[in-house]
Amino acid sequence: MLKGKTAVVTGSTSGIGLAIAQALAKEGANAVINGFGDKDAIEKERSGIEKSFGVKALYSAADMTKPAEIADMIKTAEKTFGSVDILVNNAGIQFVSPIEDFPIEKWDAIIAINLMAAFHTIRAAFPGMKARKWGRIVNTASAHSLVASPFKAAYVTAKHGLNGLTKTVALEGATFGITANCISPGYVWTPLVEKQIPDTMKARNLTREQVINDVLLDAQPTKQFVTVDQVASLAVYLCSDAAAQITGSNISIDGGWTAQ
Ligand code: NAD
Repeated sequence: MLKGKTAVVTGSTSGIGLAIAQALAKEGANAVINGFGDKDAIEKERSGIEKSFGVKALYSAADMTKPAEIADMIKTAEKTFGSVDILVNNAGIQFVSPIEDFPIEKWDAIIAINLMAAFHTIRAAFPGMKARKWGRIVNTASAHSLVASPFKAAYVTAKHGLNGLTKTVALEGATFGITANCISPGYVWTPLVEKQIPDTMKARNLTREQVINDVLLDAQPTKQFVTVDQVASLAVYLCSDAAAQITGSNISIDGGWTAQ
């Protein structure tokens, strides 16, 4: 379905981004993967994508807090593969603290990675998409782009901002065959979430099941985690021709969280 297209997926060395990069490659898109992590593990992921799906894959170490590195990532992708047709802004971090103690450097980092990086990638990739009259921009937002939780000032602000950026870009791309949408997951079962469980068990003196059901899934009516593959399937759908008229949307995949 996506043969001949090139997808750049930021923050794709782990979790949701990795699943999206693999799913797009499975549909035939060349992939640019990005993010931090162990060098050997990243190379295994990159070459695994090539072997499993018969596409080309490139790793970019661009730091999403650095606009020059972001511009270079897009330029390199265009030079290597000829185009950037699909852009998935997925890199993200979280920090939880009461606002009066919220470290300024954490605020700055979250706004830079979770929001500003998407401006820089889109700014760099948009001219090529416009010229080719085809583009798909998928932004991994969050239930926190629609509702707030206490102690997540930077994350909630960034994700709400990402929703606004997405709508603006959707309008600018509308007559150029470019769509821009947010995917807004609730709690997704990623290594990041899994790693929090033992510490939360200790801190709250709870069993594993209590942490999962009473802490993590408290907001999610289905009482089930979203899976990375479910998020990736939605991303693939948004890149298909069937989704050509879906633009400026913020699609929840949150087990009913934001229906409440
Ligand atoms: P993760 O920690 O598994 O992945 C985050 C990725 O971002 C990693 O590849 C990491 O290396 C990369 N990254 C971090 N800082 C970076 C930087 N400065 N430059 C480049 N890459 C950087 O987390 P995840 O759960 O897969 O989250 C991915 C996205 O999904 C994030 O935007 C997150 O906000 C969003 N999200 C996650 C959940 C969830 O429950 N896991 C829910 C809603 C939204």
